[in-house]
Amino acid sequence: MKQLAFFVDVSACSGCKTCQMACKDKHDLPVGQLWRRVYEVAGGGWQARGPAWVSSVIAYHLSVGCNHCERPICVEVCPSGAARKREDGIVLIDGERCLGCGYCRWACPYGAPQYDEAHGVMAKCHLCYDEIDAGRQPVCVTACPMRALEVGDLADLRSLHGAAADAYPLPPPSHTEPALVIKPHPGAATTDRPSFSIINREEVGREGR
Ligand code: SF4
Repeated sequence: MKQLAFFVDVSACSGCKTCQMACKDKHDLPVGQLWRRVYEVAGGGWQARGPAWVSSVIAYHLSVGCNHCERPICVEVCPSGAARKREDGIVLIDGERCLGCGYCRWACPYGAPQYDEAHGVMAKCHLCYDEIDAGRQPVCVTACPMRALEVGDLADLRSLHGAAADAYPLPPPSHTEPALVIKPHPGAATTDRPSFSIINREEVGREGR
């Protein structure tokens, strides 16, 4: 079965948030709703090495929406059957069936579903399925000036870029098997991960995820 997936090149992302703005614009999202969020991460420090001090300071940006997971827990917990997975792997929430109970929001380890107060339902990134159905890419992808985002078949993206879907501050991929491939920041593997923190926590959400 085909599984569409996002590829995020963290090493290329400049943190401009054009993806976030394009998404808000296309979907006319109100203040407080971000279907795509750009985490600003900083970490590392200075270590004494003999008489010298060596820096491992890094900073990077990670753009995340819904990951259209292979094991979507939002679909499993939805009591009304509003959340479902399409043949091509896109996970949708049907606004006609949604009760707005928020179970999907509580269950999703990525904080993707958000409450749409105006309509009383949950809503999230649906991978711009209207663009996909018309043979185009989602607007976050086409808007990115650094070409740091891409959508393609998960197996193809993994064969091109490897299978990594793990980067701070994301949870372990084993939870929901996200359809996500990440090219990490080059310093992330060598920098002490416990030193990492989200520096725009207020912007990306109260839970910082
Ligand atoms: Fe569901 Fe969250 Fe996975 Fe999206 S990221 S498919 S909302 S579990």
